[in-house]
Amino acid sequence: SLSGKNAVVTGSTSGIGLAYARAFAAAGANVVINGFGSPEDIEKERAKIESDFGVKAVYSPADMIKPAEIAGMIALGEKTFGSVDILVNNAGIQFVSPIEEFPPEKWDQIIAINLSSAFHAIRAAVPGMKKKGWGRIINTASAHSLVASPFKSAYVSAKHGIAGLTKTVALEVATSKITCNCISPGYVWTPLVEKQIPDTMKARNLTREQVINDVLLDAQPTKEFVTSEQVAALALFLCSDDAAQITGTNLSIDGGWTAE
Ligand code: NAD
Repeated sequence: SLSGKNAVVTGSTSGIGLAYARAFAAAGANVVINGFGSPEDIEKERAKIESDFGVKAVYSPADMIKPAEIAGMIALGEKTFGSVDILVNNAGIQFVSPIEEFPPEKWDQIIAINLSSAFHAIRAAVPGMKKKGWGRIINTASAHSLVASPFKSAYVSAKHGIAGLTKTVALEVATSKITCNCISPGYVWTPLVEKQIPDTMKARNLTREQVINDVLLDAQPTKEFVTSEQVAALALFLCSDDAAQITGTNLSIDGGWTAE
């Protein structure tokens, strides 16, 4: 149980991040949620976490591109709940383009959101975790922290960077009862992915099954999507006492993608 623990999850207004926040709350943790979206939708998700699980949930609008706002998000968690025991760095964006046309400002944005934001959040959260003598830091990396795909130079670089940051932090906090790991999902089934299927069927004149298996799941030997809930369950395990000696690792959950 995570009762009495407090978690911050960046990029938790949708997808994998929301699944992490709900899984921690289901286990009894209070949560700080973060990310973009319409104020009404965010308030609905926040209130639903509280009513579904009987914990406290607060929203931080911090933009992961802005170091001062990231520090403010950690401070909000500490001020509201007394501590930040679990930090999940999950916010991320993608941009796909050949490198010679890749906009330099997109490169900077992806490195800031997908990599540097984790540095700023960890930097701000570690003193409190050391003071409490317990902590869990989890970074959402990707299969792209281990292998590359063409046209994703910034994303692949940021995710490889997250894997290195994870190992470094794990070593630095190893004797402080704080673990730091990253989770590397393959293709995760989200509404975002689902919504792409009809357009792809039309564009390529394929059936739904062909789009799923020959286009989307080409990289994934199981030919099945990972679910957000499966990723969240792995994060929940990393927060348990049984996982106290798992640190500095990069845990793949990718249907065999990176085994090939
Ligand atoms: P998503 O688009 O559903 O969620 C991304 C979240 O990040 C949203 O809450 C969004 O509002 C937030 N966000 C974006 N920019 C932000 C900013 N500047 N400041 C604060 N929040 C910001 O995507 P997802 O698929 O749930 O992705 C979550 C993480 O998982 C990302 O790091 C992504 O790289 C990683 N990942 C996703 C997949 C996949 O197939 N979906 C696979 C591997 C890794």
